[in-house]
Amino acid sequence: MTFAATILTLYPEMFPGPLGVSLAGRALREGGWRCDPVQIRDFATDRHRSVDDTPAGGGAGMVLRADVLAAAVDSVADDRPILAMTPRGRPLSQAKVRAIAGGPGVIILCGRFEGFDERIFAGRAIEEVSIGDYILSGGEMGALVLLDSCIRLLPGVMGAASSGVDESFETGLLEYPQYTRPFDWEGRTIPEVLRSGDHARIAAWRKSMAETDTRLRRPDLWERHEGARVRPPSGARHEKD
Ligand code: SAH
Repeated sequence: MTFAATILTLYPEMFPGPLGVSLAGRALREGGWRCDPVQIRDFATDRHRSVDDTPAGGGAGMVLRADVLAAAVDSVADDRPILAMTPRGRPLSQAKVRAIAGGPGVIILCGRFEGFDERIFAGRAIEEVSIGDYILSGGEMGALVLLDSCIRLLPGVMGAASSGVDESFETGLLEYPQYTRPFDWEGRTIPEVLRSGDHARIAAWRKSMAETDTRLRRPDLWERHEGARVRPPSGARHEKD
């Protein structure tokens, strides 16, 4: 089964964009995933093909119309999850990325202007996702971020070099620091333990670095990690991510 990405957008020319290069691009050309951008404007019904209107209650900008969005969504809906990129959505997590990558694909609704008429979220089964606490000018960049993080997890995309399981966030911790040649760069050397060939010592060093870095850089992650460790292994948590 091929992972199929359908992107509902006013700017279909933004896809595959950066996902057309490197490993994701090669996988796309080889049929490892599909990228189907759909123009929302094609579902406008009036003479001017309008997709937006002024905000009810006043205020700056324009709001995307629920009727036009619904027609676009209905034209592509199948068994895949439907996501909308919104700053009010649930923050994207590696756990969510993994869940999406393990499924048949995804339909992503990209906002523009002031965003969506809120009724679309009541009228259709759409999950709102945010890529962080900052405002983009449109959902397309968010969709590209989400897709990039999913595609690298698809079987065969990254090759044997890494299955991605050792990466930051996969373990609930940040990744340990990495080094490569030259051994001496501007008087700074690679930690001795990494040249020891002692795999147990290396693993212990990496674990301790990952823990220290997470504690210092991301106390929020560390707290969650420690919480998960002391709690019973199953049944205690309701949130998936
Ligand atoms: N008025 C809205 C922002 C609209 S930005 C508000 O204040 O919440 C225009 C579009 O960009 C949004 O509809 C959404 O699709 C996208 N977007 C902006 N920031 C985003 C973020 N952090 N995560 C995901 N999508 C975002």
